Order: sequence, then C-alpha cells, then structure tokens
Amino acid sequence: MFSTVAVPEPPGQRPARNARTREDPLLGRGARHARGHGTIKIVTSTEPRRVSARLGAIAPSATLAVDAKAKALKAAGRPVIGFGAGEPDFPTPQFIVDAAIEAAKDPKNHRYTPAAGLPALRQAIADKTKRDSGYEIDPASTLVTNGGKQAVFQAFAAILDPGDQVILPAPYWTTYPEAIALTGATSVEVFAGADQGYLVTVDQLEAARTDATKALLFCSPSNPTGAVYTAAQTKEIGEWAKSHGIWVITDEIYEHLVYDDAVFTPMLSVVPELADTCIVLNGVAKTYAMTGWRVGWMVAPMDVIKAATNFQSHLTSNVANVSQCAAIAALNGGLDEVFAMRKAFDRRRKTMLTMLREIDGLVVPTPKGAFYAYPSVEGFIGRSIRGRAITSSIDLAAIILEEAEVAVVPGEAFGPSGYARLSYALGDDDLVEGVGRIQSLLGEAK
Ligand code: PMP
Repeated sequence: MFSTVAVPEPPGQRPARNARTREDPLLGRGARHARGHGTIKIVTSTEPRRVSARLGAIAPSATLAVDAKAKALKAAGRPVIGFGAGEPDFPTPQFIVDAAIEAAKDPKNHRYTPAAGLPALRQAIADKTKRDSGYEIDPASTLVTNGGKQAVFQAFAAILDPGDQVILPAPYWTTYPEAIALTGATSVEVFAGADQGYLVTVDQLEAARTDATKALLFCSPSNPTGAVYTAAQTKEIGEWAKSHGIWVITDEIYEHLVYDDAVFTPMLSVVPELADTCIVLNGVAKTYAMTGWRVGWMVAPMDVIKAATNFQSHLTSNVANVSQCAAIAALNGGLDEVFAMRKAFDRRRKTMLTMLREIDGLVVPTPKGAFYAYPSVEGFIGRSIRGRAITSSIDLAAIILEEAEVAVVPGEAFGPSGYARLSYALGDDDLVEGVGRIQSLLGEAK
C-alpha cells in the first residue's frame, strides 16, 4: 500500500540529472524522495523495513564497483586493463615503509592512540600545512582519520542538520552526495561541463544559494575531472562563501598533483578570514602512494574538531597506530619521491590525452591536476557498437568493459551522464594498450 504526494522542490535547487529515488531519513519508515522532476515525491509504505532508511538509500561506490568487476575478470584470467581505480600504481616510498616496520616492532605502538591521533602526527600535519599551504595552524585543530574518506564524512556530520543544503559542484567525487545525504541534508548540484573546463562560476553558485545553504564543497584539483581552479577563482569563490556565511569544505587531497601551468591554491591561503567556517580535508593516500594505509585528516575550527573527535571516539577510536607512524615519516620526509611520481603521472597524462584525442567523437579537456582524464562521450550516445545500442555513458562503459576488456567509470558515478573517467595512475604499457583498445572499439561505432 503506497500513497504519493508531490511537493515543490526548494527554490534554487537544481534537479539532479541522474536523479535517484532516496529513502527519506526525516520522514521515517517507508518514506522515499524521488528527485529530478521539479517535485519531491513522498511515497509511504506500510510494509515493515529491514534495512534502515538511511543506509538503504546509500548507493555502492561506483568507482570501487568498476574496479572490483575489473579485478574479478582479471582473476578469471581475462586480460582486463583497469582505468577505474583512483590509486597510484607505485609502491609506498621505502623510507615510509621502513618507518612502519620499525614502529611495528615497538610494543608501544601495539596500543590505542588518542582518538584524535598521535601528537607527533598532529604536529607533522601542522608543519606540513605551513610548508605546503603557507599558513600556521594549531596541532589541536587537526583530527587524524581513517583515510580522507572518513574526514569527508565527519566534516559533513559535524556541521549539517536535516534540512540544510550543501552546494555541490558537479561532476563531483562519488562519495560526497552519499555523505551529505547520511546527515539528512540535501546536496544541490551545480553543473559545469566540458565547455567551461568543469569549473563552476560564482554566478552559478549564487543562483543555487538559498536560505538553507549551509556549506559549499570545493575540490581542486578535482576528482573526477582533473580541473584546477586558479588562485583568482579560488579567492572569488571563498570570498563569496564568506560574504554569505557559508561554510567551505575544501578537499585538498590532490594538492601536489598539478601539471602544466596549474598551481594548487589552498583555500585558506587566499581567504584566511574563512578560517572560522572552513574545513580542510587531506590525506597521505594520493601524495605518497599510501591508499592502503588509511590515513587522512581534517583541519577545522576547535568546536568542529571537538565534535568530530567525540564522534570518531565512538566510531573507530583511532587510526591504526603503525599507519600513523608511517604517515609521520611521510609528512616529515621531503617531497622528492612525490615529485618523481608526479613526473611519471604527467608523462602518462600526455600519452593518454594524445591517444584519446585521436578518437573521433570524444571531447577531451586538458586535465591539469590529480590523475584523471574526463572526456565527454556525448558524441557516442544514440549510436551503436557491434549491434549494441549506446543510450548512456553507463552503456558505453559496459560495452568497453565487455568488448575491449577495459574498465572506465561512467559519468553517472559523478553526476550527469555523457562522460567517462579514466585514471592514468597505471603503468605506461598498460595505459597505451588500454587506450589503444578503446580507440579500435570506438572506431567501430555506427
Ligand atoms: N577526496 C577525494 C577527492 C578523493 O578522490 C579521495 C579518494 N578517491 C579521497 C578524498 C579519500 O581518499 P582516502 O580515503 O583514500 O584517503
């Protein structure tokens, strides 16, 4: 037994083009929201629920799902090449591994640490912030988390209440809208396509602002697009947020991976007056090829750190002690190995761009940061390959995986359809082989 009512969406809210039906944590048992048509449909059911509304509404991580499918095919003996995963193919630098081995031998590291992290790591985060971002922070304003992912979730959890809105520039990293929805808040997508280099403007942000806007998510360099905002653009966006009392959650995890003329701009370096309403997210995963160690952090005003630390103390206690010791070595070590990895990524980026641009029908903006290319595949929608119709980028990604044995992540994982994300954090030979296969397959499109 279902009943449906339609209520208008809040003003200024841009319907998601990849609208999904969501269970509504606010309306309780059996209630669902269907967004995307200018109305929110509330559907109520009398059937008992087994999985909670909040968790039942979470979509699986599409990027991890693509990666898992590619790995499963590989394990079954298929020569699959994966452009899906957002992780460097390099081993963690040896000096970091050595520090971890030493730490693991010392029984004092077999114990819990303070929930907020080892004091030496919080100090190292403060020192590295001064070195890389140019401003001073108190180590007490940091919280060490299980990867940047936990920092993302805790940042939203610390400041959002049901009914709040978060402006989310799209294409966006797939985890943000899920973390926002879990708090009972709503994400309001602001889309910037290939034609604007995937960079939103202040005018677009202003058009999306409502009385309920609590925060803006800002990610530069961007996953999934590789776009990097200039210092002037970053400043303009930060000042706009400050002038309206909007929090900025700035994800700076790709800070060291910029190419060509792009320069990473830490939000608080250009708008220091935002310090009281800004949360900086970061981690060692991408910079030091440490995805498996699970160390990230947030830097935030003390009241937010206190609330998030209390939360974390019940959720995960602390990050693995040995991993924290490894992160101390990483942050206190130099950046030489990071720059060597960046050089390799840059070489691969150029190869990938050249090869993708040889494919008729793809539009390939130049990614200036992170390790992703984000071509528009719109030129293939409505066509077919080997008798298989392509009605969306999901279809195209499935065809590429099944026919060419190459994994790419469809744009739907990051917002609107019509795009694909390819990571170039894989070996040079695989990269050439994989893009070559895509070239041949897409060449067959009718
Ligand atoms: N932020 C962004 C933009 C990311 O791409 C990722 C990883 N894909 C993270 C945060 C989190 O990384 P981790 O949890 O591995 O530290």
